[in-house]
Formats: sequence, C-alpha cells, structure tokens
Amino acid sequence: MSKIIAVNAGSSSLKFQLFEMDDEHVITSGIVERIGMDDAIFTIKYNGEKETKTLPVPTHNEAVQLLLDTLIEKKIVHDLTDIKGIGHRIVQGGSYFDSSVVIDEDVKAKIKELIPLAPLHNGPHLIGINAFEKAIPSAGAVAVFDTAFHQSMPPKNYIYPIPYEYYTDHAIRKYGAHGTSHYYVSQRVIDLLGNPEHSNIIVAHLGAGGSLTAVKDGKSYDTSMGLTPLAGIMMATRCGDIDASVFDFMAENLGMSAHEIITTFNKKSGLLGVSGVSGDMRDVKAAAEEGNKRAQLAIEIFENRVVDYIGQYTFELGHVDAIAFTAGIGENSDFVRHDILAKITEATGIVIDEDANKNGKGERLITKPESKIKVFVIPTDEELVIARDTKRLLNL
Ligand code: ADP
Repeated sequence: MSKIIAVNAGSSSLKFQLFEMDDEHVITSGIVERIGMDDAIFTIKYNGEKETKTLPVPTHNEAVQLLLDTLIEKKIVHDLTDIKGIGHRIVQGGSYFDSSVVIDEDVKAKIKELIPLAPLHNGPHLIGINAFEKAIPSAGAVAVFDTAFHQSMPPKNYIYPIPYEYYTDHAIRKYGAHGTSHYYVSQRVIDLLGNPEHSNIIVAHLGAGGSLTAVKDGKSYDTSMGLTPLAGIMMATRCGDIDASVFDFMAENLGMSAHEIITTFNKKSGLLGVSGVSGDMRDVKAAAEEGNKRAQLAIEIFENRVVDYIGQYTFELGHVDAIAFTAGIGENSDFVRHDILAKITEATGIVIDEDANKNGKGERLITKPESKIKVFVIPTDEELVIARDTKRLLNL
C-alpha cells in the first residue's frame, strides 16, 4: 500500500488529495482557505461526506498540521509515516525544469530564485514544501511544474519580439502554464485516437484561468499563456492579450500605479470586467439570457478569443487530428463548446454531435464519424499526474 498526497499551496490556501496508489483512487481531498485569518475554512471530503469547519489558521504550518491531525483523527491514516510521498504543484519552473524532479536543497533554491517570475505562487509553494517536510520528515517530496510540459516549445514560439537581451539577461520569455493539464488531456486524446505515432492536438483548458496548447507528437509546440498566466485568451477576471500600450495609457492619463494596472488586468477584467456581472460563466450566461447586453458581449468575446487561438494553432500545426475541451467551462459548458465549434465548422469540416455535446457525461467524443477533426471532452486530472510522477520518481 502506498499513499501519496498531491498538494497545491497557494498564497492563502492549501489544496490536497490523498491517493492510494495501488489502484490510484482518491481516499480524501479538501482545502484550507483563508490561511492567515481567524476565520479560515477547512473543508474535507471523505467517504462521500463533506465536512467544513471555520477556525483560526495563522500560517501554512498550522494548515498542514490541521490537515494531518484530521487524517489521524478520522483514522484515514494510522500513522503519518503511511504517507510515503508528497507531490507539490509548482507554477513556475523557468527554463530549469522540463520534467518533474525530487525536491532537494538545489531544487528549492531554484524555485526561490524564480519567485520574481511568479510572485503570487512560488513563495507559497516553498512554504508548503517546508511545512510538509517538517510535519512528515520520512516522506519523499517531488515538484511537478506547470511550465515543464511547455519546455519543448521551439524558440520561435517562446521568444518575445523585444530586444533579445531581455531574454538572455532577465529570462523574459513565454513559459506557459496549465502544463500538467495539457499533458494529461493530450495523452488521453492520443490514447483515444489509438496511439498514433504522429498526432496534432489542440487542447482548450477553459477554467477560471484558461489557456490553449498546440500539441505536436505528444509535445507542447505552442501555448497561449506567456511569461505569466495573464496572456492569451480572455478569462474569468484576466484580460488575456491586449495592446501593451494600454498599460502606458492608464499610467500616463489615469494616474494609476503599475500595481493598480496589473491588478485591474488580473482581477477586474475578463468576463467580470466586460459583463460587470461576474467572472463565473454560469452567472454571465444567466444574465445574458435575461437580456443583459454586456453579459452577451462578454460571452461573445470569450468564445471569439478561443476561436482565434484554434485558428492560429491549426495553421501552425498544418493539420489537426483532434481538439479537446477541459476544465470548469470546457467540461461543463455545452453552449460554449457548441458556439465555438459552430463558428469554425465551415473552415474545419467539424461535424458536431449535438446530443453527445449536450447530454453526454464525462470523457467523450462530441463529433460525428464524418467530422474531419475529432472533438473530445476530457475531464482534466492534474492531481493524478502529480501523484503518478511522485510515485515514479520516489520508486514507491
Ligand atoms: P480554476 O481555473 O480555478 O481551476 P475551474 O477549472 O474549476 O477553474 O473552472 C471554474 C469555472 O468553470 C467557473 O468559474 C465557471 O465559470 C465554470 N463552470 C463550472 N461549472 C460550470 C457549468 N456547469 N457551466 C458553465 N460554466 C461552469
């Protein structure tokens, strides 16, 4: 029996899933939110039941302790040494990591060095790594990077057309994100296509954050996020690609600071900014159906941005075998998938299977046999990839 915990430590949250790796089933999962507050929220799912409690959790150390105490208390594990491996999701691995690695002092130093590239993420990840190391010293730890899958991109797709020294001297380039999800989903599609030697796939990860990746022969060839997750398509609250001069205009004419501008682009834009209603596609859709014009426009822009990238990646790849939709919107929102596919039907020869799209559940094909490109819905499972890499690298 080998138990592995997949951990995603954010600035004020700690998400976890505990796996029994013999059959890869999730024993328990949950999240500690609002770390640092007196009214932090701890939610744990176990045996089909969900329990939530509100309590003070001053730092990530207490969050980890709370989680581990609960595992013992509920007899989910008899002893903490039952947990043999800890897999940490790390947002930014820079150009150092093209695959997952066992965490040692050198890996920690590199994650720390990369904090300027992911200030909201890499710092909290390190706190999470150290907290678990202290709590379960017997367990091995592995880092699984969101950027690793995209390290296969050719320079023509990751170098920004700004003076080259900004790349060589300051590491400013496209890194991409959601790599673990793009990897998992594209591998599932390759399996479903019957493992062809060569396959070109476009993965549309549409969640609160969203990105598209062009996958060539199982490797990332291009992706829509950039130096940070702000680039690419329109998202829940992020603007995605816009003219960089908007930044200067806001600074010069509106007297906004760099921090205010970037916060506006990250937290107040996207579906929320355009609709004025919400960053959640379900709320925006409900408002659009009631006749809210800005909500209707927000959905139209969202879908158009995805179409733009599918078009770009189709030409970049030459031909496309399959498109896959994943994450919160990609998996659950049949009307978004329908609208996007309807817009590209004529250009691509895609023939959507409306019934499978609307009424089907889980992983499935949503195009008819005569469709020139197969389209799939693939529920993503980043935690499973983290747990598998942890098991493999620790030889468990
Ligand atoms: P994150 O990027 O936070 O991991 P998720 O992949 O969980 O995001 O996606 C969350 C988003 O998915 C929500 O904000 C919402 O817009 C969308 N979503 C979830 N369920 C549905 C649904 N049934 N219909 C439409 N959109 C949905």
